[in-house]
Amino acid sequence: MTRSASMLKAWQQGLRRLVQGQSPGARAYRAFELVLARRIRLSPSFARLVFTGPDVDFMHTLAPDQRVKLLFPAPDGSLPTLPHDVHWKTALSALPAEQRPPMRTYTIRALRPGALEVDVDFVLHGVNGPASAWATHAQEGDRLLMVAPNLAHAGDPGGYEWKPPQGTRHVLLIGDETALPAIAGILEALAEEQPELAVEAFIEVPQEADCLPLRHSANTRLHWLPRELLRCDHGQAMQHAMRELASLPPESAFYAWVAGESATVLDIRRYLTKQRGLARESLMTMGYWRLGETCD
Ligand SMILES: Cc1cc2nc3c(=O)[nH]c(=O)nc-3n(C[C@H](O)[C@H](O)[C@H](O)COP(=O)(O)OP(=O)(O)OC[C@H]3O[C@@H](n4cnc5c(N)ncnc54)[C@H](O)[C@@H]3O)c2cc1C
Repeated sequence: MTRSASMLKAWQQGLRRLVQGQSPGARAYRAFELVLARRIRLSPSFARLVFTGPDVDFMHTLAPDQRVKLLFPAPDGSLPTLPHDVHWKTALSALPAEQRPPMRTYTIRALRPGALEVDVDFVLHGVNGPASAWATHAQEGDRLLMVAPNLAHAGDPGGYEWKPPQGTRHVLLIGDETALPAIAGILEALAEEQPELAVEAFIEVPQEADCLPLRHSANTRLHWLPRELLRCDHGQAMQHAMRELASLPPESAFYAWVAGESATVLDIRRYLTKQRGLARESLMTMGYWRLGETCD
């Protein structure tokens, strides 16, 4: 981020805090009760769900890969109440097991505090998991809980990994469809704040129609890897791109961000560190889901 862009961001956040009020004991994360305001079908595999809630102006996001927890309602639509003065994990574990809602990790795709709106882009991979099943069938007015950073908290709540070191000149982004919301946000942020950086992005998606229009800088080379077209299984196109297509400039000025199916990400991490000798500081890898396993 350029100095002026980061100063402007810090100033805007400070102003929001001032307007909303900051309380000394406020927890870094808290539960927000949200209602589905509208759903936008982005492509065959993606739906953008736009949520609203009375206190979304107290929600905070610090980076384009800001992660949050979504807690899904029981079949009758009911959700537990999580008090704000207790750590959300403590409040959850105090509930009887049968009242504990299924919970999954997602990315804030966009937060519009002024409009009290927050967007999450869901991969619709079927009805075999509570999150994808809920997103497939959710109607306007349906409710869920989001555990997200609390603007009233003074410090850094964490929950994001996009931290390119100062002096980075080349960025490599590799991810599958679950990382697309984060990568889309990173590309937008780079276009706005550091358009001079050389960026290469590889995104594996199920189908050609899932190659969404993304805003990025003129210095970005964006490569889509649709599995159906390439006739490959989950992760194979990412692994091939890493080995055969990606350019790895000198380590000191290079930062790679890799996320997606866990075994694929681990393979790419091993390749980059063991075979290409990349320093750990130049690399962020995160498994977002596991093929054949639920994320309970
Ligand atoms: C930091 C982070 C950020 C994330 N951000 C997003 C996001 O913004 N959008 C998003 O869609 N996902 C995101 N994910 C991934 C999401 O949490 C997982 O895909 C999760 O498993 C979905 O839960 P579920 O209830 O649908 O399936 P689960 O109950 O967890 O799994 C049920 C079955 O579905 C399979 N499965 C799970 N996900 C997929 C998939 N994407 N494609 C094919 N099969 C799958 C599992 O292997 C399992 O067999 C993120 C994960 C992390 C850790």
